[in-house]
Amino acid sequence: MGKFSGYRCSLCGKTFDEAYQGYVCDADGGNLDVLLDYPSIRSAWSPERIFSSGEPSLWRYLPLLPVSEPGFRQTALHTAGWTPLYHLPSLAETAGIRNLWVKDEGRNPTASFKDRASAVLIARAKEINAPIVVTASTGNAGAALAGMAAAAGWHAIIFAPKTAPPAKIAQLLVFGAEVILVDSNYDSAFDLSVTAAEKYGWYCRNTGYNAFTAEGKKTAAFEIWEQLLSKRENAGRALNLFVSVGDGNHKGFKDLLALGWIEEMPRIFGVQSEQSAAVYQAWANGTEQIRPVTATTFADSISVDLPRDGVRAVRAATETKGAYIAIPDEAIYGGITALGKAGIFAEPAGAIAYAGMRQAAENGLIGPDDDVLVINTGSGLKDVRSAMKAAGEAAVIEPSLSALEKYLDR
Ligand SMILES: *Cc1c(COP(=O)(O)O)cnc(C)c1O
Ligand SMILES: [Zn+2]
Repeated sequence: MGKFSGYRCSLCGKTFDEAYQGYVCDADGGNLDVLLDYPSIRSAWSPERIFSSGEPSLWRYLPLLPVSEPGFRQTALHTAGWTPLYHLPSLAETAGIRNLWVKDEGRNPTASFKDRASAVLIARAKEINAPIVVTASTGNAGAALAGMAAAAGWHAIIFAPKTAPPAKIAQLLVFGAEVILVDSNYDSAFDLSVTAAEKYGWYCRNTGYNAFTAEGKKTAAFEIWEQLLSKRENAGRALNLFVSVGDGNHKGFKDLLALGWIEEMPRIFGVQSEQSAAVYQAWANGTEQIRPVTATTFADSISVDLPRDGVRAVRAATETKGAYIAIPDEAIYGGITALGKAGIFAEPAGAIAYAGMRQAAENGLIGPDDDVLVINTGSGLKDVRSAMKAAGEAAVIEPSLSALEKYLDR
């Protein structure tokens, strides 16, 4: 494991040792960054040695993670991560950029990138002997925790808004989690889960809030490094990375920079819906002060009134010379169909990153010489209603050749 050496508050810089039990800073409530002992990682490991791992999951990066090997091999817990990266020249041409890659996180075991955070969380829960794990979720974080917990025989309790897409609620139930639907939004579910975790002593996975979630999510950055940055032609050129944001984070690239294994950060472009744009608004106002909004976007996975990790999300763009982009919900449908024509089925919160990239190209934020990577964060199979709205209706005909001819001549 990656020499876990404590935590540092992202607001005041206060440090805590490994035994600290709080989720956030006890002085100001700031989110905590996990600290790793970089010199000892660097002396024990090299990129080549990590790349030569035959492990087809995020556990290939165990040397850079603050947990030990969780066991449960040959279960879903051991298959999170190591998702495919596609190179898509014709979509790049349409967008007027040089190269486009899409990393398809819908290919994770429970079909969203939340599996990364939940897999590392279960490894941590095992270490600290916390057999009951809880999370608030718009759906995917809960499905991921429920799935990983099921694989490991842990008990998961999930608080989700009752408006979550039915497929996501079904996933929670099928995985055997205790599902509590809250007759309100994600933010209320979040507050209730934190209070309940405290009262009953459950281990709380909430995204951003628990520092180990960022440690899991950062493995996507390691894969982008291994699958692309380490072998790209013209490696000197910055990579422009587009990702949808509810809470956001860029810890993986910071680790690699601190280790001296990359020379510069990719430029990170966070994409939000205009109808859930709290981080965008803080970034646009040049502040780290996150003001709550009233989120109404149909991209349920990024529908958040008050991002709980907003400061680090703003910094992901400011510290990498990236930007935030807010686009109207209507543009998401075009993202779904464009990715679909490349063989990638994205849920709305995944497709919005592609739509945001198109807007950035139109506005000149990225240009014809740029290399771009878009992350599709989740599978479209989880929200078939939105998919049908994007793709339209199929034709229905009588089962006869004449009916077919009539259809073909229409
Ligand atoms: C949770 C989620 C997001 C937002 O991720 P954050 O880490 O909260 O920024 C985006 N897309 C999908 C599919 C998600 O499940
Ligand atoms: Zn602090």
